[in-house]
Amino acid sequence: MSQIELDVRNLNVSFSTPHGNFSAVNGINFQLHSGETLALVGESGCGKTVTALSILRLLPEASAKFISGKIIYSGRDLLGLSSQQMRKVRGKEISMIFQDPMTCLNPVLTLGEQLSETLLQHNNLNKKEALSKSAQLLGRVELSSPEEKLKQYPHQLSGGMRQRVMIAMALACEPKILIADEPTTALDVLIQAQILELLENLKKETGMAMLLITHDLGVVAEIAERVMVMYAGDEVETGPTQSLLKNPNHPYTKGLIASRPQPGLNIKKDLRLPEITGNVPSPNQRPSGCPFHPRCNWVMDQCKTQKPISKKSNHDHQYSCHLEPGSL
Ligand code: SF4
Repeated sequence: MSQIELDVRNLNVSFSTPHGNFSAVNGINFQLHSGETLALVGESGCGKTVTALSILRLLPEASAKFISGKIIYSGRDLLGLSSQQMRKVRGKEISMIFQDPMTCLNPVLTLGEQLSETLLQHNNLNKKEALSKSAQLLGRVELSSPEEKLKQYPHQLSGGMRQRVMIAMALACEPKILIADEPTTALDVLIQAQILELLENLKKETGMAMLLITHDLGVVAEIAERVMVMYAGDEVETGPTQSLLKNPNHPYTKGLIASRPQPGLNIKKDLRLPEITGNVPSPNQRPSGCPFHPRCNWVMDQCKTQKPISKKSNHDHQYSCHLEPGSL
């Protein structure tokens, strides 16, 4: 087994709002190994992005007041580091790419200025060296004429090119961990496939670990070795990707898989995909017992009052449900 790069233990995150304190992440646990991709999957509002932002300590301190648990990286608990110590980790050892590159790139700075800034902040380089390394990075993410691109502004590039620039910025300091938050959602299908291939190739080249946040099980099947499914801030099922897609043990995992468009779907005949009825509850309206029970087709009386504990399935998944393994 490869080295553990990140060990998240019993992570809880609550927000303070004018209407009270609400929990967004409830005691989740996972490990990320070097060279692997772990996907965090679930609908919007399940706590995936809050988990990622907690790792980088990027949640607004004024509202995300209650963070507990441990996030162990390189023998240190990130939650215990000072802001100054955290700045040395963020961007250099753990970096992140976001969903919409247009809002993350600065529209009034050239790509060269933005890439160099990251390099100058974390490396002992002068401006000329930083620009030269920036051009190399643009070449590495397969952008043509990198020297020319350094002089351009974000609005002069297509969406796919901007996402490549974001990847170049995230890789500038050769991080050990890359967090990719819905990196292909804003892109069309063809560009999406190219970006996924690029990420996979870069991961193989560098040996970095990747935490992929997505709601798209098609993307997961392409590049993740393991999956953790989240619902209403809880970890509901974790396991190796192919096994989890084939033999889900939690009704929510099964519902997500069923609602995925399948190859060979006859659009004329199969007018509607199966769906999970209802919505993810807002944190201030969390149902009692199993939070999925108002939407679950297998709901039993005990589900409404007792929160299920995590157990092992026949296929070595960890899942939280009152159903016995193999019941679905
Ligand atoms: Fe459904 Fe009950 Fe399992 Fe929750 S615990 S997912 S309600 S069967």
